[in-house]
Amino acid sequence: MKMTMPGEVEWIIGRIREHGYEAFAVGGCVRDTLLGRKPEDWDITTSARPEAVKAMFPRTVDTGLKHGTVTIIKNKKGYEVTTYRIDGEYLDGRHPDSVEFTANLTEDLKRRDFTINAMAYSHETGIVDEFGGMEDLKNGVIRCVGLAKDRFSEDALRLLRAIRFSAQLDFAIEKETYQAIYEIAPNLLKVSRERVQTELTKLLLSAHPERILLTEETGLSSYVAPGFPEALKEPEGAAWYGAIASLPAEKSMRWAGLLRHRMPKQAAETLKALKLDNETIGNVQKMLEGAQMPLPLEKPEIRRMMSRLTPYQMEGALNLKAMDGDKTAPEIRKLWNEILEAGDCVSLKALAVGGKDLIEAGIERGPVLGETLNRLLEAVLKKPELNTRETLLKMAGERAEGPEAL
Ligand code: ATP
Ligand code: MG
Repeated sequence: MKMTMPGEVEWIIGRIREHGYEAFAVGGCVRDTLLGRKPEDWDITTSARPEAVKAMFPRTVDTGLKHGTVTIIKNKKGYEVTTYRIDGEYLDGRHPDSVEFTANLTEDLKRRDFTINAMAYSHETGIVDEFGGMEDLKNGVIRCVGLAKDRFSEDALRLLRAIRFSAQLDFAIEKETYQAIYEIAPNLLKVSRERVQTELTKLLLSAHPERILLTEETGLSSYVAPGFPEALKEPEGAAWYGAIASLPAEKSMRWAGLLRHRMPKQAAETLKALKLDNETIGNVQKMLEGAQMPLPLEKPEIRRMMSRLTPYQMEGALNLKAMDGDKTAPEIRKLWNEILEAGDCVSLKALAVGGKDLIEAGIERGPVLGETLNRLLEAVLKKPELNTRETLLKMAGERAEGPEAL
């Protein structure tokens, strides 16, 4: 069978072969091409040592020479070329202690995690499939190469990779592999939280975010982060989690979907423990705040919400309301659009007076100034027509004289 590869990959493999070595496309790119999916990147495996690979190509980057990886730059894109490798002992449950180069492709395929990820391809040889990867691809099965328990004990990241691939590909996890995840689950503590997070994020962004429940079924969820197991305790189960798929495939939205019944602060703590970036954490927290607020369908309330949330966070909050069948979501969206069209002021920045104006009008610097601005904004959120310099200065002055003025 002939597989389509990018011209650059053909060029790299061809050149390595001209020098008398073996070279193949390998791993995820072979899997995805066979499935008719577009590979994210193309990895190449070769019998040539890194120094030999470097000598064959004009533009290379030393990505991980110790692990045998050289990146070849071609047409502004990078292609990782890695020497056939046998991983040494895994002492920390995550990384091999040492790696050894080999001239035997089968040895290199043997170290890979799942049968569907352990196939190689070149035009000259066709598919090299030593572990039944094709069969498992056809049947939609995630199965470890070799003894599942050993493979998960070597590297605990594979525990989550299995579940993530199951969600991305809509594959079942083979029985022995599944059982081993259950047994080795506590080893997840040996994996850095960033890596745990990137796997979970990929899972949530996939077509089957409800497979996040596999982390609970297999006992992995207790070893993810504080608050995470609690997030998986929705009584409606798969249907409730399946609704996450209706959200745009964006990091903030999908995490907010998963955590939509958690308290915003607690959700933020879970995400912080998982080393999500501050922007995502902020978005999720605000989306939850917006979604969980009971919202009277009145413009002042919507303006107040707009003053606290960015448009993206508003969008997320409305998506969250809508996905659980809150009928007010479309009405809120309508009012939101009307407010935007009217150009009503919803932020201190858009207020017709600023701190400087108030100081000139005789308000003293310090906390009173900020308070006054906030009170003026509150008034404008209620009645947008108050947002003129004249009116606001007058209101600020009255305020200075008596508490009833605003
Ligand atoms: P994707 O790029 O969609 O995440 P992938 O299968 O290409 O999927 P990569 O992390 O890019 O995954 O790794 C490329 C290949 O390296 C895999 O297909 C697999 O053969 C091997 N591999 C990656 N991570 C591991 C691991 N933790 N243990 C064993 N083999 C691995
Ligand atoms: Mg990849």
